[in-house]
Amino acid sequence: MTPSLGHDRLLHRDVLVASLICKSAIHVGSGRDGAAVSATDLPLIRNGAGQPFIPGSSFRGILRSGLEALLRSMPQDLDVCDPLRRPRRDSREALSDPELSCSYRIGELKKAQAEKEPGETAGPGSAANRPAEDMAFELAANHSCEVCRLFGNTFLASRVWIQDLVLSKVATPYVRNGVGIDRDLRSAAKGILYDFEALPAGTEFELKIQVENAQDFELGLLLTGMELLDSGMFLLGGKRARGLGQVGVGKITMTRWKAADFFIGGEPPALDDPDLGVFRKAARKYYLEGAA
Ligand SMILES: [Zn+2]
Repeated sequence: MTPSLGHDRLLHRDVLVASLICKSAIHVGSGRDGAAVSATDLPLIRNGAGQPFIPGSSFRGILRSGLEALLRSMPQDLDVCDPLRRPRRDSREALSDPELSCSYRIGELKKAQAEKEPGETAGPGSAANRPAEDMAFELAANHSCEVCRLFGNTFLASRVWIQDLVLSKVATPYVRNGVGIDRDLRSAAKGILYDFEALPAGTEFELKIQVENAQDFELGLLLTGMELLDSGMFLLGGKRARGLGQVGVGKITMTRWKAADFFIGGEPPALDDPDLGVFRKAARKYYLEGAA
């Protein structure tokens, strides 16, 4: 059992806060459905107050996929799944593919376990079924990759929450023109002109990431992800081929809440650089030397 992966204890909750600063214009759209009530073909996504924002789920997806690519490229060949990867044909041999989605792998292992021990598979609820739930959790924890252990999968709850990123200061959206490209002529296609809404460079959003029961190296991994974002390795939103979506991350502060802090009241002191260096060092040690 890995207690830090479960939600039955609140060992600590860390809250990372930073500004996300657009280095280029950015377009985070609402999809074509939003165009029906907008003056542009591709409007920005807006919250209930009418303000453009970046959905936390979009930011999380970019951060997760960037960290997956990073860890998969490490020299020690870390097993990191591709959450969308399924085998071409159902077969037990396919389970040896290290990039197979952890959710698929765990689902198959659960089915195999159910076939072997039908008495252990009764549904959740009564105390008598508790051992089966523990077994299911252990199976999920033991067969989830480094990234799923942090961001979750079908069988393991995520320990990372990212709030929707709201504007931290007023920004004025503007409309840009786009043109469809004819694939044969490689020039502007007749009649395929469109426009889209964007926010200008300099726009700032509030980024808030909460992580539960994370080990030091896992916090270091998240900090590394934010550095990758800051270095331009990931772009956010749409129209990226046109150079949109470059963002930087401002000063990061972290507040650690332990169970007792909720009774004491008040906010624990925030850490920033160089205090956060301990987590970066733990990640270096774990991912480069293989020691937690
Ligand atoms: Zn995985």
